[in-house]
Amino acid sequence: MSVPRITRQSIDQVQAAADLVEIVGHYTQLKKSGANFMGRCPFHEEKTASFSVNPTEKLYYCFGCGEGGNLFGFVQHKENLDFAQSVEYLADKYGIVLEYEESSAKGEAERRRRDRLRTLLEQATAYYERVLWKGRASVAARAYLEQRGLGDEICRRFRVGYALPGWERLRDAAKQEGFSEQELLDAGLVVPGRRGGVYDRFRERIVFPLADDRGRTLGFGARTLGEEKPKYLNSPETALYHKSEALFGLHNAKASAGREDRVYVVEGYTDVLALAQAGVENVVASMGTAVTEQQLKRLSRLSRDLFLCFDADAAGVGAMSRALSLARRLGLSLHVVRMPEGLDPADYVLSGVGADGFRELAARSETLLQFHVRLVLEGNDLTRPDGRAQAFAQLKGVLAEAVTPIERDEELRTIADRLRLSDESVRYLLSAVVAPRGAAAGPAESGGASRAAVGPAAAAVGGVHELEVRFLASCLALPAKGGEVLGGIDEGSFASAGTRAACRWVKARLAGADAGKNNDSSEYGSDAQEDAGDVVAEVVLRSGRERSSAAVVDELFLRLQEAQVGRLIARLKAAPGTDETGTREAKLAELEAVRRRLREAIRSLPVIDEATEGQGSVT
Ligand SMILES: [Zn+2]
Repeated sequence: MSVPRITRQSIDQVQAAADLVEIVGHYTQLKKSGANFMGRCPFHEEKTASFSVNPTEKLYYCFGCGEGGNLFGFVQHKENLDFAQSVEYLADKYGIVLEYEESSAKGEAERRRRDRLRTLLEQATAYYERVLWKGRASVAARAYLEQRGLGDEICRRFRVGYALPGWERLRDAAKQEGFSEQELLDAGLVVPGRRGGVYDRFRERIVFPLADDRGRTLGFGARTLGEEKPKYLNSPETALYHKSEALFGLHNAKASAGREDRVYVVEGYTDVLALAQAGVENVVASMGTAVTEQQLKRLSRLSRDLFLCFDADAAGVGAMSRALSLARRLGLSLHVVRMPEGLDPADYVLSGVGADGFRELAARSETLLQFHVRLVLEGNDLTRPDGRAQAFAQLKGVLAEAVTPIERDEELRTIADRLRLSDESVRYLLSAVVAPRGAAAGPAESGGASRAAVGPAAAAVGGVHELEVRFLASCLALPAKGGEVLGGIDEGSFASAGTRAACRWVKARLAGADAGKNNDSSEYGSDAQEDAGDVVAEVVLRSGRERSSAAVVDELFLRLQEAQVGRLIARLKAAPGTDETGTREAKLAELEAVRRRLREAIRSLPVIDEATEGQGSVT
């Protein structure tokens, strides 16, 4: 299915309407600092505020980790969306109706088809709801919910419904509304009959709508009242419903997950209902103990702290481990809430402990690492030497999961204690965990280990990048002087695609481009633009922070030229082939002379007070 392109006009409209400070503000608290806003970085853990947002250019940059980019880039990263989805997300948020370039009948038809499916699913949801709440046929369903301790109000809020016995109830109702059998099939509401025709997929079941984060029904999960098999029946994969992404309760959980900055992940629909009814609203059901990558991605938009409330021992290490590496990459922190033996969260909260009891239980949660360590320690007989040896062997793998050295060392102490390990063994355990990781980080480059912690753009070219960015930032901060100097510079002399793009951007801006307009939107969304956008953001946000003066611009310009000449010399020296005519030799001599003059010029510059220069206005 081809994805229709959003028109450039629409993208510009979104760019103009969106407020990056407001958007970032959902993830981290921002404070005004000069022309920019500063806050703690939503991309890395930190105690001080290194994250900056420029509200007019709508660019962000983290001085700590080097993450940077434009409005759409931020939404893409934080919400795990692609470019087009980030535009759609913002358009929705700021009430802009997007136009699509797709003029082909096919794209238009596809969009209309999806709209029809949404309408059909909404009508089906309403239909099942009506059936549940009226008539005698659904008495047993209502009794079941009541017996589970779920009141009318909470069931109505989650739009719980009931599918009647019979093979064509929904089908006929939908047909009366003008939907075709094909549409019913496409929505996953019916199944093809053996002798042609279609019949209802869900029969004599309580129906839970599986909605997206805006509350729009995408599919259904349905539970039997009795013991028929299967106990749970879900929608099949459709254009709208994808099993691996589905989370029940997402829409309801959104607001409170943001407020409390955590999400509880439970297994079943009734767990979500019971907890929400008790007042724990930030809860979703994964509908299974194995949380998928896609589910984690969606959850990461709500909070970084996920509390898994499964029957943990049954879920086991395996099911959770699969989610782990991705969780780490997304910067998620997973906790395991131990439910009391034999109780699911619904039972527990309804047993009289209420929301407070549940939250207390959650407060005693373990990190996933602690959980795994405990499972291993409990799974072996530590009174016997061979039991301890086995535990020791298993723990090596488990410790590799540690997110931070601090977390690892803490667990190590517990382990050493429980296994009665010698210092020697502890060191061995540690080295086994640490060594492969250190090796994977690759040979240290000129910047050394601390450099590796800096963002990708900065780390890649180190000093040159730094110099070029500082130069461009100082030009931008001092428009008259900067424009003059930049006028004589060819962007091709910059070392990377990112700084070349930033040079182009700064030049255009200093040449008087409309300040309200951002980068050329034709470049939005491409990979090249993504890197370039990072550097543009870095330049813009540094220009607001670094002190600039004509002398600073001059000095940086000289240093930049020196670096450029240095690169030319190196390239020439490395060029293959002989130099029979002596042209290379001559050229080299010429360049060396230029470099000498540049170095002299740099030496003769008035001294700039390094202590105040470059410190910026950040407090
Ligand atoms: Zn950061």
